[in-house]
Amino acid sequence: MLSYNRCKKIGVYVKIFLMSLTVEQKDKLLGIKPRFFFAIMLPFILCIALGFYVWKLPFVWQDFFIFFVFYQIALFGISVGNHRYFSHKSFKATPFFEFLLFFTSAVAFQTPAICWAAVHRKHHHHSDKGEDPHSPYFKEGRALSFWEGFWHAHVMWIFGLDTLGIIKKYTQDFYHNERLVNWHRFHMFIGISFLIIPGFIEAAMLGEFSSDNILRGIFWGGLFRVMLLHNAVFLINSWGCHRGIGYRRNETNDQSTNNPLLFPFILGEAWHNNHHGSQTSANNAQRAIDIDPHFWMLKGFEKLGWVSDIKDAHKS
Ligand SMILES: [Zn+2]
Ligand SMILES: [Zn+2]
Repeated sequence: MLSYNRCKKIGVYVKIFLMSLTVEQKDKLLGIKPRFFFAIMLPFILCIALGFYVWKLPFVWQDFFIFFVFYQIALFGISVGNHRYFSHKSFKATPFFEFLLFFTSAVAFQTPAICWAAVHRKHHHHSDKGEDPHSPYFKEGRALSFWEGFWHAHVMWIFGLDTLGIIKKYTQDFYHNERLVNWHRFHMFIGISFLIIPGFIEAAMLGEFSSDNILRGIFWGGLFRVMLLHNAVFLINSWGCHRGIGYRRNETNDQSTNNPLLFPFILGEAWHNNHHGSQTSANNAQRAIDIDPHFWMLKGFEKLGWVSDIKDAHKS
């Protein structure tokens, strides 16, 4: 059996070995970009490992509460922040609200806002065509089989991404906002902190800062929450809204669909065909049954004076 000291020694050797490699060599060794490995695969591995531990603890309502609250904060950052504001500029925000959007998007632990927006704008420019960065039909112009397409559109596209090239082409406008660019330095720090902070909040709610209580909060409000939202967002491209599942209400130049099955996980983002039909609209609803709570929230923030010029293509 491995002792603690032996593990520590092996860890030091691995660290020295990795430090001696160039970024290109690390890419070659891992077959993927190390930064993306860190952001996507590491939380996934930790989530499974910690899941085995937390599974043995009795489920309490605070587990669900902490999961739900942090999931909704992160979803808000992705849907309202990265998608409707940073990618499509579908409303104007005060500097305070802009920071709140950046902050909540960093809590989601996906790619930084500038990169998220660049990739998403490219997706709209080439939806379901050869240059779509996460198409389930093509990879760099090559037609894909069903399962190849599923995995490519779900997650594998991230590992081959020319991040800087896409940012230079699609998000030059970010550089006019020095404040926003500076915030990006804190993206990773915020993301990692909010994997851990839910642990201390849940322990406080349970009235005891024991390792069990802290770890269950880190699992439900941190790692599991990140993994579920990552996969819910990935499913829009790989299965839910670009694979002919669901229904179309707008004749668009792509395969986008509305998919109510994704609504519990991504709320109004599930009306993806409505969105492709009116890309700059902050409102994804076209009929009364298309519920879009994030649009309602924006209307509330407008009343507080934090948001203005909300674009709504579906005003009846
Ligand atoms: Zn799309
Ligand atoms: Zn969009």
